[in-house]
Amino acid sequence: MVKFFTSSITALALSVAFVSAQTPLTGYPPANKVPDVNSPEVQAWLKEIDLTGAPTIPLHKGEPPACPNPPIPDECYWTCEGCAANDITVCGAANTWGLTFDDGPSTDTPKLLDYLKTQKLSATFFLIGSNIIQYPDTVKREIAEGHHLASHTWSHHALTTLTNEQIVAEMKWTEKAVLAATGLRMKYMRPPYGDINNRVRFVLKKLGYIPVDWTGDAFDTNDWQMPTMTESQVIATFTKSLDAYAKGDKSKGFYCLEHDLNSMTVGVAQKLIPLGIARNISIASVAQCEHDAAPYQAGGTSPIPTVSGVTPTATTTAGTSTGTATGSATPSTTGNKSSGAGAVHAGALSVGAVIAAVALMV
Ligand SMILES: [Zn+2]
Repeated sequence: MVKFFTSSITALALSVAFVSAQTPLTGYPPANKVPDVNSPEVQAWLKEIDLTGAPTIPLHKGEPPACPNPPIPDECYWTCEGCAANDITVCGAANTWGLTFDDGPSTDTPKLLDYLKTQKLSATFFLIGSNIIQYPDTVKREIAEGHHLASHTWSHHALTTLTNEQIVAEMKWTEKAVLAATGLRMKYMRPPYGDINNRVRFVLKKLGYIPVDWTGDAFDTNDWQMPTMTESQVIATFTKSLDAYAKGDKSKGFYCLEHDLNSMTVGVAQKLIPLGIARNISIASVAQCEHDAAPYQAGGTSPIPTVSGVTPTATTTAGTSTGTATGSATPSTTGNKSSGAGAVHAGALSVGAVIAAVALMV
C-alpha cells in the first residue's frame, strides 16, 4: 500500500513536471469565462465583420438551455428540434467513423495521442481556447502527429445563450490561441452541447467556420458522464451505435461524441476504437471525412495522413458545406434532442489541482 502511494505520488509529481514544462500562452482573457466584448481585441475583430442581418432570435437561458416552448419559428435549433440546417452531421466517407475528441487539451490528452500513434490513426480535436493556452505544446504535438484541429469555443458556454458579439469573442480568442501555437487558422468547429441555431450559424459563417455536430443521440458515447456512467456502460452504448450503423446506409459514415477530458474518457476511447476496427469500419478525421485537403482557413495545410483507406481529395473545394445563415433549413433526421445537453466541461486539471491531489493523498 505504501509502495502504491509512493508510486502514485511519483506519477503525479511527474505529471506536475510535465504540465509545468508547457509554457502557457499569455495575453488572453480569463479561462472558462465568456471574454469581454469591450476589449480592444474583440472590438477590432468586430470591425472586421458585418453582423447586419443576423436573425433576431431571442437568447436562450440556462447552461445548457432549456428548449423553448413553444418552439421559435425558423430558429432551426439542433438540440431541441433536430434541425441541422447545413451543419455537418455525418462523415462524408462511406463506412467511416469520423473520430473526434472534444474539450481538450487536458493532462490526459498525451496518453490518447500515444495510443492513436500506435494505431496510425488521425482524429479531429475540438479544442477549448481556455485549455489551449495552458497546454500549447500538446496542441503542437497534435499537429506534428497528423491530427486535425478545430474549435470548441473559448469557455464552453452554450452559444445560443450568448450575444452575437460574445460568439465572435469566443471564436476569435480560440482561433488566436491555435494560430499562436501552430500558425493554423481553424475552419471547423463544434458547438458546445451541440447548442446551435440559425443566429449562431449566421455569426459562425461570417467568421468562416463550418459547424460539425454529430450523428444524433444514437452516436453519443456518453463518455462525458463517466464515472456516473461506467466504462462497461459506455462500451455497451457504443456497441449499440455500431449495431445501428451496421443496419443502416453505409454510403456515409458517422460522427460520434467522445472527449479527451480525463483519464476515464481517454481510457475508454482505447477500448471503443478496436470495436470499430473489428467491424472493418474506416477511421478518419473530419478533414478526411469531408475530403478536405485544405482543412484550415489559413496557415497552410496540416499533414493529413491517409489512414484506414480514406484518402483526402486535393481538388475538393474547401467550405462547400458551410452552414446556412438563413431560416430556410430543413429538419434533419439525424439531429437529436438531447445529446450532450448535460455535458459538462470540467476543464483541464490545473497544476494547482494536481498539487492539491498530491497533498490530499499524503
Ligand atoms: Zn464539449
